[in-house]
Amino acid sequence: MPIINRIAGFHNEMIEWRHDIHSNPELAYQEKKTAKKVAALLKDFGVDEVVEGIGGTGVVGVIKNGEGKKVALRADMDALPIREANQCDHVSNNDGVMHACGHDGHTTMLLGAAKYLAETRKFKGQVILVFQPAEEGFAGAKAMIDDGLFEKFPADSIYGMHNMPGLETGHLRVAPGPMMAAADNFDIKISGKGAHGAMPEDSIDPIVCGSALVQAIQSLVSRNSDPKKTLVVSVTKFNSGHAYNVIPDYAELSGTIRYFDQETGKFIRKKFPKIVEDLCATYGAKAEVDYKEGYPPTINENTSSEFALKVAKEVAGSNASDQQMPMMGSEDFSYFLQEKPGAYAWIGNGNSASLHNPSYDFNDDNLPIGASFLARIAENKLL
Ligand SMILES: [Zn+2]
Ligand SMILES: [Zn+2]
Repeated sequence: MPIINRIAGFHNEMIEWRHDIHSNPELAYQEKKTAKKVAALLKDFGVDEVVEGIGGTGVVGVIKNGEGKKVALRADMDALPIREANQCDHVSNNDGVMHACGHDGHTTMLLGAAKYLAETRKFKGQVILVFQPAEEGFAGAKAMIDDGLFEKFPADSIYGMHNMPGLETGHLRVAPGPMMAAADNFDIKISGKGAHGAMPEDSIDPIVCGSALVQAIQSLVSRNSDPKKTLVVSVTKFNSGHAYNVIPDYAELSGTIRYFDQETGKFIRKKFPKIVEDLCATYGAKAEVDYKEGYPPTINENTSSEFALKVAKEVAGSNASDQQMPMMGSEDFSYFLQEKPGAYAWIGNGNSASLHNPSYDFNDDNLPIGASFLARIAENKLL
């Protein structure tokens, strides 16, 4: 079965929802209008239970059809603090805020699946529709879990998807293992001793120490970590000093650390502060390290991923594959995958501007494909 005919039949309606959400973008945990719209549509479709305010502005809908398994399908609703550069009719009405990651499209695809599933109910069990807030850096998925999402709605598995510019429109990719990286951040303050710029013998120079540190922490990647495992350590800020002739007394460095597996994460959290502190000590400086654990890696569970690939092939034929496309970006769907077996898929957005670019727009041709994929996941899972 390719795209579900009934879903293709209301493609224009989905485009209207998507454009309305795109015109009214809202930042993390402020998705009030979006959540209201989602809840109103779900009720309109005849979804049996609609609960608002989970994890802040999250919305959950449940479509029930007798006894059986429970599958969760997830979309994200938040936009980004970006001024939109597009000239289209559905351009953002909220200046400086924009759906530049396609979450308007993700929300609409899940709404499309919900409308079809509530109408046809060709499954046994429950479909749990999860519309989460705050994916962009503010862990809305975790907020929903901490607010009792899976106690109130005990799903057996969970599936989600994200659009991908550069991959052909409507192509689906889902593979076992890592899809997105973990994203930890760090701040380091090096305290030295200030002095006259011409009299370095009186100083403990935090700039020289910091420069050595930038080099030394690369050895975490090149000499300490298993070369078969991906690890990125980037220093992205280095601030110090204010005058030509003054050696400052401190320097501040910040950056990001990305990896795909939890073992590497454990290792780096232990090793990173030690390398920083020891290196600074050899210069006589003192280091304070604030290591901030971020989103975990997004790892698809094997069986769920094989199942999702089968469904993807049903919907998209030879445009579906399990070609590995791990990205070094991060995604808070990872928190759901720590709780439940499931999988996360890519859907091609064609030749669009990249994600988080002011000229990006979600490709409306994807709406019936993505909605069919999600709907068929539910129907196949709940036989
Ligand atoms: Zn994004
Ligand atoms: Zn996104």
